[in-house]
Amino acid sequence: MPRIVLIPGDGVGPEIMESVIPVLEAVADKHGIPLQMEIHEAGDEVKRRRGVALPEETFQAVRRADATLMVAVGETAREVILPIRQELDLYVNLRPAKSYPVPNAVRGFDVTIVRENTEGLYVRSGWTNGDTAVDLRIITKRGSERICRYGYRYAREMAKDRVYAVHKANVLLGCMLFRDVCSSVAGEEGFEFRDMYVDAAAMRLAMDRPFDVIITTNMFGDILADLAAAYIGGLGMYPSGNIGDDNAVFEPVHGTAPDIAGKGVANPMATILSAAMLFRWLGYREAADDLERAVWRACELGYTTPDVGGRMRTWEVSARVRDLLNSGE
Ligand code: ATP
Repeated sequence: MPRIVLIPGDGVGPEIMESVIPVLEAVADKHGIPLQMEIHEAGDEVKRRRGVALPEETFQAVRRADATLMVAVGETAREVILPIRQELDLYVNLRPAKSYPVPNAVRGFDVTIVRENTEGLYVRSGWTNGDTAVDLRIITKRGSERICRYGYRYAREMAKDRVYAVHKANVLLGCMLFRDVCSSVAGEEGFEFRDMYVDAAAMRLAMDRPFDVIITTNMFGDILADLAAAYIGGLGMYPSGNIGDDNAVFEPVHGTAPDIAGKGVANPMATILSAAMLFRWLGYREAADDLERAVWRACELGYTTPDVGGRMRTWEVSARVRDLLNSGE
């Protein structure tokens, strides 16, 4: 019986989560998945009330759960997602940027960024004397090996064969190590090794996209993913997963969107698509495909929020997705 933890968080988080729970129930019912859902709190609001952004019971629930779906945490994001990523060793940040039929997306855009999630420039280690600031960028053989292996295996599972390792090995030592490890792993996993410098990859992402999957280090992945978001209609359509060997936390790429919080117009699709990733990761592929199909159909029919050209409210969009799931239309 899969147990999943739900964390609504702050800003648009609670309104999105409230609308999405019936969608999760519908897909679980339809596919006979005996899903157990527990809601837990984390973020700014709980910190204000209880002095801690990630209460111990939330952390333990995430640790014990089969998987977690989180919407967004505000200013305390670092106090929530960073310890979860580190403690549970969620070393993959998987960001599939696929365009759905909304007016502001580029048709046919489909590039997955597989971003290393635990090392690189975001280890938060460095020093400054006021005039000079130094940030350490740590790249290890182990870290590179496991992210590359995940990336090639993911590509095989999803039947994607144009896989590129993206780096800046002409300048950075860490990138040389990353490239060499990726090259060995590609061979072991039966892929032709293809690679590209990150600056060239940014241009090609905007131009002709010779890749289906990009495997890259932490900060390059962060930046390329936001660029990719621009081609799929924005952050409201962009799901992601923080994945380790034994645990995973899925979340939309967007934050708490304070400018629209409480107005009922936040796009729930990124969270619904993150839930589809969660089902796929748990092994429920048909449920995942079904959710993605329902989102596709909803977009085709114009059941969308204003950020992607529609007129519906958050709860209406989620309700239409649920209806499309139930009707199988
Ligand atoms: P945070 O500080 O929590 O990261 P932010 O405003 O800096 O918040 P996002 O929450 O990612 O960053 O929002 C960036 C922009 O995208 C905002 O204009 C926001 O309204 C818009 N946006 C983000 N998520 C959604 C969504 N689900 N639906 C519609 N618009 C969204």
